[in-house]
Amino acid sequence: MPTHPTICPVCGAEHSSAPSGREASASGGERTCPYGGLAYPELRAGHDQLYFGRWRRMDATRIDIRQARLRLERHLRAIAGVIQTEDIPAARRDLEKAFEAFYTAGPGEEDREDLLFLDQSLSYAHRVIGDLLHEKGLPPHAPEDFAGWYDAGEIPFREDW
Ligand SMILES: [Zn+2]
Repeated sequence: MPTHPTICPVCGAEHSSAPSGREASASGGERTCPYGGLAYPELRAGHDQLYFGRWRRMDATRIDIRQARLRLERHLRAIAGVIQTEDIPAARRDLEKAFEAFYTAGPGEEDREDLLFLDQSLSYAHRVIGDLLHEKGLPPHAPEDFAGWYDAGEIPFREDW
């Protein structure tokens, strides 16, 4: 596995080129994207990059958390761009809640309470993606199915949401 993930041409995210414990060549080589062929690959990837991000680990640094805020804001705007063209009231409501939680987290980035709001915001973002998929008759996005692509194994995550 490469130590530096590259930007994926399918979903635009940085994920490992092969899931840990599997051969890269077995699933088509380095260009394989776990979200290839799925609906909303860029939203799934955006979510999972945050979901498995370092900011949610117990040893997260202020820089991790600052980067996560920026990334989360980009993610919410990307979702907003997608649902603009869709008439799904549930998605709009959940996205509103996601933004609300995001902006409730104040600028004191290393504050534990702020982290909870960011977590909550990401959780609502996940619901919006679920609303979009539901509208298409598809099952909800399950981040744990993609855990192997994110080097997420070693350090336990916060388990408070
Ligand atoms: Zn990808």
